[in-house]
Amino acid sequence: MHIQTAAVHTLRDFEHGAVVPPVHLASTFELDPATEDGAYAYQRGANPTRAQLEQVLAALDGARHGFAFASGMAATAASLSTLEVGDEVILPASVYGGTYRLVDLVLPGRGITGRFVADLAELTDEDFTPATRAVFVETPANPTLRITDLRRIVELAHRHDALVIVDNTFMTPVLQKPLALGVDIVVQSATKYLAGHSDLLAGAVTTDDDGLADALRLAQKAQGGVLGPQDSFRLIQSIKTLPLRLERQQANAEAIVEHLRGHERIARVWYPGSHSEEEARLHDAQATGRGAVLSFELADGLDRVAFLRALRYPAYAVSLGGVESLICRPATMTHEAMTPEGQAAAGISTEMLRLSVGIEDLADLLEDLDQALAAAG
Ligand SMILES: *Cc1c(COP(=O)(O)O)cnc(C)c1O
Repeated sequence: MHIQTAAVHTLRDFEHGAVVPPVHLASTFELDPATEDGAYAYQRGANPTRAQLEQVLAALDGARHGFAFASGMAATAASLSTLEVGDEVILPASVYGGTYRLVDLVLPGRGITGRFVADLAELTDEDFTPATRAVFVETPANPTLRITDLRRIVELAHRHDALVIVDNTFMTPVLQKPLALGVDIVVQSATKYLAGHSDLLAGAVTTDDDGLADALRLAQKAQGGVLGPQDSFRLIQSIKTLPLRLERQQANAEAIVEHLRGHERIARVWYPGSHSEEEARLHDAQATGRGAVLSFELADGLDRVAFLRALRYPAYAVSLGGVESLICRPATMTHEAMTPEGQAAAGISTEMLRLSVGIEDLADLLEDLDQALAAAG
């Protein structure tokens, strides 16, 4: 089954011939008094609607196990729940702001160290210590869209018995399947492309490893950050159009990148593969498309605020992946938790703008960008 078919047909044959799954709201389930057994017992542990969503999440990634959480951060926290006192996780300096906050402010209190490195491409055997238990990767990185060679990181980390966890939010399983490259755990903020309409907070985790699946199940049950049945149902429905939406968003983004690159009022454009030929080659060897997020900087002397005010369609807001285009300034919005030095090291300039391209008609988006650039001074 290909991914668009899987998104629509993984779940089938519901009661009464219904063509969409039912929503089971029950928080508790009757057990057999003799055996005290039942398929479900209590909603936090498992419930039929979340189980159906988890089946879809696994199917999209071609994974053995899928898990749904109440947010991307709950999913990320669960993926790190196998770490113990004294363990260390390596992360890129440009990691998602919420992940940075978790590793910087919460994990140290539990005796777990996060080691931030400027560029994962420069990671070598010498960077691993006996305490290194995991490497956490985002590729493309946000908002610089730099690429990390997943096969290389997997080989390196596994040689040192460390897990590789990939945050695949920007690519989704439509464009990149890290488990197939040997990655141990994939997390996604389902709030972004999977939900796709900026109206739902959710997280997804997939793995092929039965032991890690047990740990993730325990994280759901013990920490309780699970997705409720109604949001699980809404996510099942949203995912049905994920490949279709992303195809349109990516086509729009590619055309906008092309347009902005040739524009005299644009100083620089960032898009997966734009950093170097080498990164372009790497990305194309591990993903089937470049996605729908790009970053750019206005030419010197232009008024950023006037440009943003003049834009008619992209809302000035954090987040990404929705059907509507969104634009933000990473230095002061998504990455404000990082110090100016940290931002500089990660390649985030203060004037950089990040655009998440929606499904609007391309002609309208291009016309809008052009009139806003004209209004910028
Ligand atoms: C948004 C985001 C998260 C966090 O997800 P929430 O659903 O907001 O908790 C994690 N990683 C990336 C790359 C994100 O964009």
